[in-house]
Amino acid sequence: MAQLPPAFRFRMPAEATPLGFRQTPRDVLLEVEGLRKQFPRADSAAVENVAFALGEGELMALLGPSGCGKTTTLRMIGGFEAPDAGHIRLRGRDVTRLPPEQRGIGFVFQDYALFPHLDVLANVRFGLRGMPPAEAETRARDMLALVGLGDLAGRKPHELSGGQQQRVALARTLAPAPPLVLLDEPFSNLDAAMRVETRQEVRKLLKTTGSAAILVTHDQEEALALSDRIVVMEAGKVCQIGTPDEIYRNPVSAFVASFIGRSNIVEGRASGMDVETAFGRLPLSRAANGRVSLAVRPEQIMLEPDPAGPAAIVGREYRGHDQLYWVQEGERCMLVISGPGAQIDLGTRVRLRICDCVTPLT
Ligand code: ADP
Ligand code: MG
Repeated sequence: MAQLPPAFRFRMPAEATPLGFRQTPRDVLLEVEGLRKQFPRADSAAVENVAFALGEGELMALLGPSGCGKTTTLRMIGGFEAPDAGHIRLRGRDVTRLPPEQRGIGFVFQDYALFPHLDVLANVRFGLRGMPPAEAETRARDMLALVGLGDLAGRKPHELSGGQQQRVALARTLAPAPPLVLLDEPFSNLDAAMRVETRQEVRKLLKTTGSAAILVTHDQEEALALSDRIVVMEAGKVCQIGTPDEIYRNPVSAFVASFIGRSNIVEGRASGMDVETAFGRLPLSRAANGRVSLAVRPEQIMLEPDPAGPAAIVGREYRGHDQLYWVQEGERCMLVISGPGAQIDLGTRVRLRICDCVTPLT
């Protein structure tokens, strides 16, 4: 794989560390700063002050509900949309005003955009224009082998399944070894089983080739499963950046807590690392003081059948590996996940206990 000479690599000075970037020294590939885009005739900006940094080889998910500005952000990084404000730097070079073809960034389109009249090999070779033909041929075949399609080099795109087409598109994009690949909802055309299988293959492939990637998705499970870090967006703005585990365990807001996984929001009065709640005194995952809203994950709650219990099961969902219950206690309805045991009947009286530290929200 083509490696950039060391002179092109640089380390970001500690004082320039943007939101959420890890302090451990790591080569920064992409820096996005103060990015803004308002479309003509729109009342508000589609993207507002978006900033993050991406390390070499890092896989990042841009996650948020439909319409929050993910695609617009990705298109600005790729050069398909001009920002109103802000900067995009790739290995220290300002590429904000460069056309897409001069950025050296790979883009995998949602519909794969394969050439229907070219066979699989020719599609992948298309990504290698400018390379000596014999070298391009070898590289294209190597890429096809890497994505597990070595035997299908002579097929036309319409003779392939959706998953296979997507792997051809990925092989074509990765063949010239771009330092960065942008993928917009890359699994949306695949059925549920294929999505789960393909996303691990894609992760492995990107880690093998060493390309960094930004993947746009509205699917929190996909973001958690696939990426090294997640940028959570809401209404054009970044609301949190962190590893999947950081974001799941320490969501900063009720929006993040409910969008990534499911959460119960409980009120409490915090003092330092403890909080007083209707469920008793609980430890906090980070210090807080005064009135706080808390995120309590459904799996952090224990459910004990108790004829004298203050709560009752009012809803349930059988899920095989675990069970989901809606439990009403006075005005409050809590979502609880319990283990794979026998289902508890609707109407059963229960007692809830929170058995873990809880997260204060801002
Ligand atoms: P996402 O990818 O998160 O679903 P988008 O970035 O596609 O969101 O869109 C963000 C907002 O910008 C939406 O309100 C959308 O309607 C609007 N938008 C996107 N593209 C255009 C465009 N070309 N012209 C006008 N408005 C647009
Ligand atoms: Mg989109």
